[in-house]
Amino acid sequence: MPVPTRAEVVVVGAGLAGLSAAIRLRAAGCDVQMLESGGHAGGRLATDRIDGFVVDRGFQVLNAGYPRAADLDLPALELGWFLRGAVLRVDGRVHRVVDPRSRLAAAPGTIAAPLGSLREKAALLAFSLRAGYSPVRRSLRRPDRPAEQALRDAGIGEQALERFLRPFLAGVLLERELVTSGHYVDLLWRSFVRGRIGLPAGGMQAIGAQLAARVGADRVHLDTPVRSVAPGAVTTDEGVLRSDAVVVATDPGTAARLLPRIEASAPRQVTTHLHVLPASPWHEPLIVLGQPGGRLVNSVVLTDAQPRYSPDGRALVASSTLCPTSEAEVRAEVAAAHGVGSSDLEHLTTVTVTGAQPAALPPLALRRPVDLGDGIYVCGDHRDTPSIQGAMASGARTARAVLRALRPSAVPRGA
Ligand SMILES: Cc1cc2nc3c(=O)[nH]c(=O)nc-3n(C[C@H](O)[C@H](O)[C@H](O)COP(=O)(O)OP(=O)(O)OC[C@H]3O[C@@H](n4cnc5c(N)ncnc54)[C@H](O)[C@@H]3O)c2cc1C
Repeated sequence: MPVPTRAEVVVVGAGLAGLSAAIRLRAAGCDVQMLESGGHAGGRLATDRIDGFVVDRGFQVLNAGYPRAADLDLPALELGWFLRGAVLRVDGRVHRVVDPRSRLAAAPGTIAAPLGSLREKAALLAFSLRAGYSPVRRSLRRPDRPAEQALRDAGIGEQALERFLRPFLAGVLLERELVTSGHYVDLLWRSFVRGRIGLPAGGMQAIGAQLAARVGADRVHLDTPVRSVAPGAVTTDEGVLRSDAVVVATDPGTAARLLPRIEASAPRQVTTHLHVLPASPWHEPLIVLGQPGGRLVNSVVLTDAQPRYSPDGRALVASSTLCPTSEAEVRAEVAAAHGVGSSDLEHLTTVTVTGAQPAALPPLALRRPVDLGDGIYVCGDHRDTPSIQGAMASGARTARAVLRALRPSAVPRGA
């Protein structure tokens, strides 16, 4: 489908933020065209097929507890779920820390897990309850501190921090030092307490594909990089596309290049090694946490949660490190995490994502400006939080800003 020369709104970038904006603009009757440099819709949610296995570009999950998950048709994604919790190994012994709401039978093991004194365990529970159920506004009213300090101030002890929270959060925040905003960790933990995490049957890219279908295939122009943006015009290799509004919904680095007033925060990176095992060594879908001092932040049998990631019942394992590693450097650690022999692991592929997420340092700037003036708007996870939720929320917010300018009657009062 050729790119037209005129549209009411041009959205640059078809990641979750751009798609979320475009869906709302289309619903309000706007003529929207999306220009996407890559070969698929969904941006950082990308999935390949390798030897019949469904391989996401980096281990990531959809948290159904995200408020914006309500925008998705979750049943159509055919999600396979992880249990809420994790496996940790201490002195070679396996311990499961599982939310009893997920599996009541796991409660005695969770209470007995080596995570410090009863008082420290109670502090972990109190932190979870506060993050999960106290009003967000109240959490955000406290001064924002680096996550490690916030957790220690909440009474979290050394063992719970080093054996459980640090490796768990490092796998999500993509940094081990826990310098990320404590406010953001509160929001994140809230969604873990409230929702389950899962993988779509077709891989994470299916989420973007679902949203793109709502925009309309004829309006999402793939393999069309935008070279520059100006008020009322974007330039591609094919020419100039004129519009009343331009929404830049790219990754933060590209947004900073296209829009001089935008700053890109330090991107986090992750390397994920994919291995195949003849069968899963586990009985339940749980993330195995990396050991203190080890290279891995986590290792996960993806097919325990989503069997459709495998073509033939063999188990697919994803193991992530925060600095680039070779497969040979992590093989023994992956085997030890799952209690299998190194020779049982068949290496499928290794993926490094350099711009996986922008950093969210304190003080957390939630809801950064999206209306830059002159009909230019910006959205993406760097405007809200570095997550699927943040990307989708920023897209929704940007659509409201565009509509306030172009179709004020389409914006509910107070929105
Ligand atoms: C390995 C990994 C693990 C993650 N784990 C999780 C997780 O478990 N949970 C979670 O909530 N989040 C996770 N995230 C973060 C989440 O994926 C992102 O925050 C979110 O997808 C960002 O969406 P976005 O629309 O803001 O940006 P993007 O997805 O980056 O979309 C921007 C789009 O713009 C396009 N583009 C760039 N330049 C141009 C140009 N010049 N012209 C046209 N198009 C352009 C890009 O190709 C891309 O499609 C993870 C990310 C990665 C990479």
